[in-house]
Amino acid sequence: MCGIVGFIGQEQAAPILLDGLAHLEYRGYDSAGVAVISAQGKLQVEKAVGRLKVLSKQIHGGADLEGCIGLGHTRWATHGAPTESNAHPHASHTLTLVHNGILDNFAQIKRQLLDEGYTFASETDTECIAHLIDREYRRLGKPEAAIYEACEQMRGSYALAILFHDIPDVIYAVRHDSPLVLAVGDGECFIASDAPA
Ligand code: GLU
Repeated sequence: MCGIVGFIGQEQAAPILLDGLAHLEYRGYDSAGVAVISAQGKLQVEKAVGRLKVLSKQIHGGADLEGCIGLGHTRWATHGAPTESNAHPHASHTLTLVHNGILDNFAQIKRQLLDEGYTFASETDTECIAHLIDREYRRLGKPEAAIYEACEQMRGSYALAILFHDIPDVIYAVRHDSPLVLAVGDGECFIASDAPA
């Protein structure tokens, strides 16, 4: 279970992400994290183990993170212990993402990526997805094509929200067997694992 929230709009993203994640707490989680990208393209990522309020306190209710675009995540660990390094968001060279679900063919994909020279900062299946999309993005040059190509290679369940570092005004999202809802407002958009967020 666990949760994803994403926001693009005119307001500061971090407090909205924290509020959205609070409405997904019922789904259970062991750690939480947010990524916010500023208008200048500066990406800030913060993570904390335990309750959402630990993360909220760490970033002063969101005041520490500047930007109107961001991703939030509550993690229910399936691959790797509930630690700060395993908490989402996870990054590769060209992107940062959050994931709900389980990558069933994670061992095989991780072996391939290690052979190709990727290094891993976490024990998660999710970091494999980050590197896989990064590999395809660098090969194909187009975000949608990279995501679709990575999805072709992935087995399991996923809802993903992705920020490409060189496209700081777009959140890409894709899902398969994990829930994700999209809400389109006036000058703002939200994604979330469930409607209460
Ligand atoms: N399988 C991923 C992990 O262990 C995502 C878990 C989740 O859905 O929160 O990090």
